[in-house]
Amino acid sequence: MLTIQSCKEMQAWAQKTRESGKIIAFVPTMGFLHKGHLALMEEGKKRGDVLVISIFVNPTQFGVGEDYEEYPRDLEGDKKKAEKVGVDVIFAPSVKEMYPPDYQTFVQVEKVTQNLCGISRPTHFRGVTTVVAKLFNIVKPQIAIFGEKDYQQLITIRQMVKDLNFDIEIVGMPIVREDDGLAMSSRNNYLTPKERKAALCLVNSLNQAEKLFQNGEVRTEKLIQEAEKIINAQPLAKIDYIKICHPETLEDIDTIDSKALMALAVRIGNTRLIDNRILKRF
Ligand code: AMP
Repeated sequence: MLTIQSCKEMQAWAQKTRESGKIIAFVPTMGFLHKGHLALMEEGKKRGDVLVISIFVNPTQFGVGEDYEEYPRDLEGDKKKAEKVGVDVIFAPSVKEMYPPDYQTFVQVEKVTQNLCGISRPTHFRGVTTVVAKLFNIVKPQIAIFGEKDYQQLITIRQMVKDLNFDIEIVGMPIVREDDGLAMSSRNNYLTPKERKAALCLVNSLNQAEKLFQNGEVRTEKLIQEAEKIINAQPLAKIDYIKICHPETLEDIDTIDSKALMALAVRIGNTRLIDNRILKRF
């Protein structure tokens, strides 16, 4: 397994690999790898001839006062995990390598970034699409794999790829959860034992809404109210948003016809966690 830190070197490796007729599968991450990341990598191994992952805590997707400095980092531990899955290259550039002092170009996807996390994190998706567009030009993959844990991010990347004609297949993978249902996240590392227990209110509220939906409730206001009750009963939790949206446009909807996205962001103490569920009749 190679670790590459320079953009030029990564591009040269990718160019050579493509010229030899190989398919490059790519999994971008911010590191501190867990089983959710590893599931994407395993899919990448299946779909590509070679697998590249990136590990880069991208400063442009963190807002002022967010956790860029505290975000957990463990490159040595990540290398061991990646090696086990059979990753061929880890691209791990420095911030200066990705954003030299004269950097001035940003990529912005409009409508689908405006709801949900776009409300409380107004500069977040601009940072995500900028870094992912750069990574696509550096790693030159034919296939890139993203998690549905960050559902709005996946929709945003799909839109960017379509709008900017990136010749890359985007693959979405289901949310990987801990045994008790908590969606895996590098940020779970911030939680105290008490908060870790409290964090179950996210998945519990989705389960409750799903149950009501499967029993025939299609009014989103009602489903959201029931989800709110579960989260508000948890003293350590504070709701950022709970919404039910069209699964592609991400616009709020009043009633569910056939399929909808239920998404939520909740603070557990100082840690902001997200989770989501596609509500679809069995
Ligand atoms: P991150 O390192 O948090 O930026 O995540 C890198 C990639 O892993 C993104 O495509 C995420 O959606 C995906 N991911 C993170 N957590 C999970 C999870 N629990 N299940 C599936 N994919 C995940």
